[in-house]
Amino acid sequence: MKAVVYEGPRKVSVKEVPDARIERPTDVLVRITTTNICGSDLHMYEGRTDFEPGRWFGHENLGQVVEVGSGVDKVQVGDFVVLPFNVACGHCKNCECGLTNYCLTAQPVPEWAGAAYGFADMGPWAGGQAELLRVPWGDFNCLRLGEDAEERQNDYVMLADIFPTGYHATELAHVKPGDQTVIYGAGPVGCMAAYSAVLKGASRVMVVDRHPDRLAKAAEIGAIPIDDSKVDPVEAVNELTMGLGADNGCECVGYQAHDPQGEEHPNMTLNNLVRSVRFTGTIGVVGVYVPQDPGAKDELAKQGEVAFDFGQFWFRGQTMGSGQCPVKKYNRALRDLIAGGKATPSWIVSHELPLDQAPEGYEHFDAREPGWTKIVLHPGD
Ligand code: NAD
Ligand code: ZN
Repeated sequence: MKAVVYEGPRKVSVKEVPDARIERPTDVLVRITTTNICGSDLHMYEGRTDFEPGRWFGHENLGQVVEVGSGVDKVQVGDFVVLPFNVACGHCKNCECGLTNYCLTAQPVPEWAGAAYGFADMGPWAGGQAELLRVPWGDFNCLRLGEDAEERQNDYVMLADIFPTGYHATELAHVKPGDQTVIYGAGPVGCMAAYSAVLKGASRVMVVDRHPDRLAKAAEIGAIPIDDSKVDPVEAVNELTMGLGADNGCECVGYQAHDPQGEEHPNMTLNNLVRSVRFTGTIGVVGVYVPQDPGAKDELAKQGEVAFDFGQFWFRGQTMGSGQCPVKKYNRALRDLIAGGKATPSWIVSHELPLDQAPEGYEHFDAREPGWTKIVLHPGD
């Protein structure tokens, strides 16, 4: 089968690799029809991780079941399914509490948390930017889709990661109807957090970034764009909220943050966010921070440390939640919002490409080229 294989920093190619196949009775084999490039893939693509050359990416996957193991009894051949990016066993202590993002079985290394398809340090699972994907614990990990799945793949595929992750950011930040919410980052995840805040009935959603095309995307759903290369975002949020600050806010950027001058500056977003949120406000951080970032410029950052202004955070009496999204916690309800015509997350898609053009897609998305907001790949095309 063909897959998008990592060759080394900023180099991927579409190559023949061994076919994915059923390996255990609980496996499901899926023919991938839609698979996304994610901002999280860029951590590996840019060579910031120990992802081994020869492995392939892909954790935002949707497709049709072509074979099931003898121990699978819910999922059937022919079903269209979307796969949460978290690989989870469904039976460990964490999975039983709904914490599928910290499955203790799918992640074999105790000091690493959680498992995912095609990801550095997140277990041995192959990615879905390929023609076929092996889904372990298939009954647990496949979310079955309805009859409209085939025509609405670009909506449903967002259930694998960015829609639930954006939603999770708003849950961690306790976004409620009527709230004024600020989102840092207008990438795909930030846009989905903004969308989730809009769906929850936030009265005002402010989105900070510096890419005009991404800010324009956020404005399409009624968010107020704030360009931090032109204005101080903390001042802008304070002005929009009569000096009080937002009720809550989401960090959808991660350790690869840049300051408005284009320098790498991992503490920039967190500290701005704390200052943009009111006293006793709530914050959700879904942008990825890592225990080690060997590619970082200074020694502290290499150890994954950021200069977080804890004094300001404490002084303001704020609360913060963080971490990977437990996709399964949200994806059924979000699927039903899509099916019921109440949500259409495909508005984020800017490009649809056949698998062969994935290298081009990576190049443009990594460069944050204007207009390249979210790329979906269709292996069958
Ligand atoms: P992305 O890189 O496409 O988007 C990030 C955006 O943040 C960019 O538009 C960039 O211009 C903007 N940005 C950079 N510095 C900024 C700053 N100081 N202030 C405001 N905006 C700034 O990535 P994405 O796909 O949207 O993902 C965002 C983050 O979420 C990444 O770290 C990704 O790994 C992470 N993520 C987390 C989870 C999870 O489960 N927690 C899931 C998916 C993705
Ligand atoms: Zn992703």
